[in-house]
Amino acid sequence: MDKIKIPKATAKRLPLYYRYLIILNEEGKAKVSSTELSEAVQVDSASIRRDFSYFGALGKRGYGYDVKNLLTFFKKILNQDTLTNVALVGVGNLGRALLNYNFKRSNNIRISCAFDINKEITGHILSGVPVYDMSDLKQQLSDQQISIAILTVPSSAAQKTTDDMVEAGIKGIMNFTPIRLSAPADVRVQNVDLATELQTLIYFLDSDKAKESDF
Ligand code: ATP
Repeated sequence: MDKIKIPKATAKRLPLYYRYLIILNEEGKAKVSSTELSEAVQVDSASIRRDFSYFGALGKRGYGYDVKNLLTFFKKILNQDTLTNVALVGVGNLGRALLNYNFKRSNNIRISCAFDINKEITGHILSGVPVYDMSDLKQQLSDQQISIAILTVPSSAAQKTTDDMVEAGIKGIMNFTPIRLSAPADVRVQNVDLATELQTLIYFLDSDKAKESDF
């Protein structure tokens, strides 16, 4: 398929659309309107129509979009035809939870190997995923052609582990540690800081409450 150039904001919404379309298809629905989609994915319908307009004729206005057509289209554009293997580094509480999470159900991603320094778990299979020693990192990543890793080591080990992963050829890091990692410009880092996200939520709720009591 030709590469279509789309705005970043649109690209970010594609997985949302895709996930909902899977549900509609499983329910046997043939058509979906932009209003229905809008309610389900919480994106205003004007943005949805604009997003879809980047992809050419996907449906006729007023008739709704064809669910199967959309699914096929998004599957291709999101590369869902190919299974993406990712690695997980640091098999602690959070790492284990992610090993148990079924990424494959809605996205064609799976954690195919994990790494740790704890001899009690290396050499074992946890939730169907082999756990290797850190000394096997380079070899395994290259054998399995993996370029994405989820980082769930303690903060103190985050930067050193990142350096090792970069040296082993990792190009994308999903960083679950609160540390801001330094990595070369061609390595993408996506930060997911659960504690900070929760703190932000608490802050907003508190300030909403404060506003209410001002009245
Ligand atoms: P979590 O923060 O996920 O709740 P935890 O409290 O269970 O984890 P941590 O001390 O944060 O444990 O360690 C997470 C995992 O990272 C552990 O399994 C630990 O053995 C592993 N780990 C620690 N240092 C390294 C390292 N340098 N390289 C790889 N793995 C490491």
